[in-house]
Amino acid sequence: MNPQLQPREDDEPWQHHGACVGRSPALFEPDDRGTPHPGAWELPRRICASCPVRELCLADALDPERRADHGMRGGLTPTERRALRTP
Ligand code: SF4
Repeated sequence: MNPQLQPREDDEPWQHHGACVGRSPALFEPDDRGTPHPGAWELPRRICASCPVRELCLADALDPERRADHGMRGGLTPTERRALRTP
Protein backbone atom coordinates (compact mmCIF):
# COMPACT_ATOMS: atom_id res chain seq x y z
CA MET A 1 0.00 0.00 0.00
CA ASN A 2 1.11 3.51 -0.75
CA PRO A 3 2.65 4.80 2.54
CA GLN A 4 0.97 8.16 1.94
CA LEU A 5 -2.34 6.40 2.46
CA GLN A 6 -1.48 4.95 5.85
CA PRO A 7 -3.28 6.76 8.69
CA ARG A 8 -0.98 8.48 11.13
CA GLU A 9 -1.24 7.35 14.73
CA ASP A 10 -2.38 10.80 15.83
CA ASP A 11 -4.85 11.29 13.05
CA GLU A 12 -8.10 9.83 11.85
CA PRO A 13 -8.01 7.78 8.66
CA TRP A 14 -8.52 9.97 5.60
CA GLN A 15 -11.69 8.04 4.80
CA HIS A 16 -13.38 9.72 7.76
CA HIS A 17 -13.03 13.08 6.05
CA GLY A 18 -14.60 12.15 2.71
CA ALA A 19 -17.51 14.19 1.42
CA CYS A 20 -19.32 10.87 0.92
CA VAL A 21 -19.35 10.06 4.63
CA GLY A 22 -22.93 9.61 5.75
CA ARG A 23 -24.28 9.35 2.21
CA SER A 24 -25.77 6.24 0.69
CA PRO A 25 -23.08 3.88 -0.68
CA ALA A 26 -25.48 3.07 -3.52
CA LEU A 27 -25.10 6.65 -4.74
CA PHE A 28 -21.37 6.10 -5.28
CA GLU A 29 -21.72 2.58 -6.62
CA PRO A 30 -24.50 2.76 -9.22
CA ASP A 31 -22.65 0.04 -11.13
CA ASP A 32 -22.96 -2.40 -8.26
CA ARG A 33 -25.82 -4.22 -9.99
CA GLY A 34 -24.95 -3.89 -13.63
CA THR A 35 -24.50 -1.04 -16.06
CA PRO A 36 -25.81 2.20 -14.58
CA HIS A 37 -27.70 4.95 -16.35
CA PRO A 38 -25.03 7.42 -17.59
CA GLY A 39 -26.57 10.20 -15.51
CA ALA A 40 -26.06 8.16 -12.35
CA TRP A 41 -22.45 9.34 -12.14
CA GLU A 42 -23.25 13.06 -12.14
CA LEU A 43 -24.16 13.60 -8.49
CA PRO A 44 -21.33 11.52 -6.98
CA ARG A 45 -18.89 13.25 -9.35
CA ARG A 46 -20.02 16.65 -8.08
CA ILE A 47 -19.71 15.50 -4.47
CA CYS A 48 -16.22 14.13 -5.10
CA ALA A 49 -15.18 17.41 -6.74
CA SER A 50 -15.62 19.18 -3.41
CA CYS A 51 -14.10 16.41 -1.30
CA PRO A 52 -11.10 17.41 0.84
CA VAL A 53 -9.50 13.97 0.47
CA ARG A 54 -10.16 13.45 -3.23
CA GLU A 55 -6.51 13.04 -4.17
CA LEU A 56 -5.92 10.43 -1.46
CA CYS A 57 -9.07 8.60 -2.47
CA LEU A 58 -8.02 8.49 -6.12
CA ALA A 59 -4.51 7.33 -5.22
CA ASP A 60 -6.02 4.59 -3.08
CA ALA A 61 -8.34 3.49 -5.88
CA LEU A 62 -5.43 3.35 -8.32
CA ASP A 63 -3.21 1.42 -5.90
CA PRO A 64 -2.42 -1.90 -7.63
CA GLU A 65 -2.92 -3.73 -4.34
CA ARG A 66 -6.44 -2.32 -3.91
CA ARG A 67 -7.79 -2.27 -7.46
CA ALA A 68 -11.11 -0.59 -6.78
CA ASP A 69 -12.88 -1.76 -9.90
CA HIS A 70 -16.32 -0.37 -9.31
CA GLY A 71 -17.96 2.73 -7.98
CA MET A 72 -17.01 6.39 -8.10
CA ARG A 73 -13.64 6.94 -6.39
CA GLY A 74 -11.70 10.14 -6.31
CA GLY A 75 -14.11 11.70 -8.75
CA LEU A 76 -13.54 9.12 -11.47
CA THR A 77 -15.66 6.27 -12.75
CA PRO A 78 -14.18 2.77 -13.11
CA THR A 79 -13.79 3.33 -16.87
CA GLU A 80 -11.92 6.59 -16.28
CA ARG A 81 -9.63 4.93 -13.72
CA ARG A 82 -8.86 2.07 -16.09
CA ALA A 83 -7.84 4.62 -18.72
CA LEU A 84 -5.37 6.13 -16.25
CA ARG A 85 -3.83 2.73 -15.57
CA THR A 86 -3.36 1.93 -19.24
CA PRO A 87 0.21 2.73 -20.33
S1 SF4 B 1 -13.32 11.52 -3.43
FE1 SF4 B 1 -15.46 10.90 -3.52
S2 SF4 B 1 -15.49 8.70 -3.07
FE2 SF4 B 1 -13.51 9.52 -2.42
S3 SF4 B 1 -13.74 10.01 -0.24
FE3 SF4 B 1 -14.19 11.86 -1.41
S4 SF4 B 1 -16.40 11.88 -1.76
FE4 SF4 B 1 -15.82 9.80 -1.12
